[in-house]
Amino acid sequence: MSVLKDILKANKVFYQSSQSPHIQEDESAKVPQRHFAIVTCMDTRLVGFLEPALGIKRGECTLIKSAGNYITDSFDNIIQSLLVSIFELGVTEIFVIGHHECGMTNTTSDRIIGTMIQRGISMEAIKTFCSQIETWASGFKDPESNVYNTVKKLKEHPLIPADIVIHGLMIHPRSGKIEELL
Ligand code: ZN
Repeated sequence: MSVLKDILKANKVFYQSSQSPHIQEDESAKVPQRHFAIVTCMDTRLVGFLEPALGIKRGECTLIKSAGNYITDSFDNIIQSLLVSIFELGVTEIFVIGHHECGMTNTTSDRIIGTMIQRGISMEAIKTFCSQIETWASGFKDPESNVYNTVKKLKEHPLIPADIVIHGLMIHPRSGKIEELL
């Protein structure tokens, strides 16, 4: 069975179940009830794991994910999502949460480009769209220093108000244990 078929089957069971949480029509439901945003990694082990490990429930925060919670430039997707969180949704606090054993530690631009070429992506497309790939792939040294760098970039960002509180944490993807870095 295809993934789509599995998803649609599970969805039918979900929305028809009396146990499923009902969407609130109230506009305020979109506003994070605990007024914070999380920036973390897309790692599969954090799916459905990070929230219970932090005691977070649906509707309480915004959750922004990317490969390695790494900020590429000053108006990338993480920044855009944070600006919406702050200026539209009333977020006052940001948690950058890296994790141990992050796959980004071993990712290199050479390897990604090599695989792209093997999969038939043209050199022209790579040159046009991947100008920042070297900075991105090699900018990530290790998960802890990436959290420090990400927090620094956010604290120094000219579009993020000085009164926004920014924390840097690490989570272990197996135990769920959190460490406070800064
Ligand atoms: Zn990761």
